[in-house]
Amino acid sequence: MFDTLTESFTSAIRKIRFHDDEKALTKALGELKKALLKADVNHKVVKELIDSVEIQTKQNGVGKDQFLDALRKSLYALLDVKGKSGFVYAPVAPTVILMTGLQGSGKTTTTGKLANWLKTRQKKRVLVVAADLQRLAAVEQLRQVCGAIDVELYADDATKNPVEVVKAALEHAKKVLVDVVLIDTAGRLAIDDELMGELAEVKAVANPHEIFYVADSLSGQDAVRTAATFNEKIGIDGVILTKYDGDSKGGVALGIASQIQVPLRFIGAGEKMEDLEIFLPDRIVNRLMG
Ligand code: GDP
Repeated sequence: MFDTLTESFTSAIRKIRFHDDEKALTKALGELKKALLKADVNHKVVKELIDSVEIQTKQNGVGKDQFLDALRKSLYALLDVKGKSGFVYAPVAPTVILMTGLQGSGKTTTTGKLANWLKTRQKKRVLVVAADLQRLAAVEQLRQVCGAIDVELYADDATKNPVEVVKAALEHAKKVLVDVVLIDTAGRLAIDDELMGELAEVKAVANPHEIFYVADSLSGQDAVRTAATFNEKIGIDGVILTKYDGDSKGGVALGIASQIQVPLRFIGAGEKMEDLEIFLPDRIVNRLMG
C-alpha cells in the first residue's frame, strides 16, 4: 500500500553516503527533503520532520545509525497523534461511530468496508445505520453493500429525518445487542451550514464514541483543509483516507494527522470490501524504513 512512499524513502536512504560528518548529514537531509516533497507531503510537515531528524541526529552523533534512528523516531512522532490508533472500542457496547465526509469521498463504500473489517477481522456484530438521506441513491447503495457483506442494515424509507432514524436505530441496537453501530451520515458537495447543522443534530442524538471523517486522498491538500474544517465545526476523532490506490504520490497519508492533529485510522485502497487497511504508526514506520 505504501509502495510509492516506501520507494521514495528507501531510494533517498540508499543515496546517502555516510562519512560521519555534518556535511554528509546536510546532504542526507537534502535527499530526504527532496523525496518527501516529491511525494507531495505538505512543506511545513517536511520542514518539521527534517528539523527533528537534524536535531536528534546531532545530539547523538552524525553517523548512519544515528540518522536512521532519528528518522524512525521523528516519523513515528509525526504519525502518532494523541496516542490513538486503529479502532478504539467504547468501554460499554455498543461502540457508536459517526461516519462523515463530503459526497463522493467514498463514505458509503468505506462504511461498508469498515463494517466488513469489524465483522471478519474483529469478529464483531455490527449494525449499519442509513442516515444519509440527502443523496437519493445512498440508502439503496448501503443496502446492497450490507447485503453483500451480510451485515444488518437499519433503514427507514418512510422518513427523511436522519435524527429520527438514528434514535430508532440506537433503540434497535440495544435490543439486538450489537457490538458496533456505524452511522452513515449525509454529505454535500461542499461544506455548508445546512450540512453542519444536520451533523450537529445527529451527533447530539447519537452521542457517538468517535466521529470518523472520510477523506479522498486524490484531493490532496484540499482533503486536509476540509478535514480541518469538519474538525473545527463538529470535532472529529479520526480520519479514513480513501482512494489511496489511485494516489500516485501518497504523501497526504504522511502529513494529514500532524497537520490537523487528528490521527489517521484506516486507509482505503480499492473498491472492494476487503480494500481497507488499519493504519498503525509503528507498522507504517517499519514499512517505510524497509
Ligand atoms: P460517498 O458519496 O462519499 O458515499 O461515496 P461512495 O462511497 O459512493 O464512493 C464514490 C466512488 O468512489 C464509488 O465509485 C466508489 O466505488 C469509489 N471508491 C470509494 N473508495 C474507494 C477506494 O478506496 N479506491 C477506489 N479506487 N475507489 C473508491
